[in-house]
Amino acid sequence: MRISFDLDDTLICDRRYVPCEPNRVPFFLKPWINEPLRLGTCKLIQELQQYGHEISIYTTSYRSPCYVRLWLLCYGIKVAEVINQKIHNTSLSRYPGDSLPSKNPRAFGIDLHVDDSEGVKLEGKKYGFKVVVVAPDDRSWNWTVLEAISRWQKT
Ligand SMILES: [Mg+2]
Repeated sequence: MRISFDLDDTLICDRRYVPCEPNRVPFFLKPWINEPLRLGTCKLIQELQQYGHEISIYTTSYRSPCYVRLWLLCYGIKVAEVINQKIHNTSLSRYPGDSLPSKNPRAFGIDLHVDDSEGVKLEGKKYGFKVVVVAPDDRSWNWTVLEAISRWQKT
């Protein structure tokens, strides 16, 4: 299964309220990379990759794919693809239409998207893609994701 994760308020949360992974960014990169990674991300992604799932990032931010890859590599995480707003815009401009979803994982061959936004879930219903919503204050968010995946694999 191809699974994508949102960044803001999903993998990158406000460190004052949401526990984060111990910082593994080397000191010489810290001036450029200083974002917290949500606690549990490393274990969850490692587990999903061990099950054979392909992991990507899908963000509506303009962080460059290179930056995101490097940041995650500091934590030992390798992702298949990074889709940012620029890539999304370029790709979806091929489909003319008045209303386009803010994200369209299906257009990138992604089976399931993990996001904090209920709005993205509603778009999923409208445009036919699967979304599992995890709130920033969900301390067992990794279980929420694993449960959703096993539920969908059974259907
Ligand atoms: Mg978000």
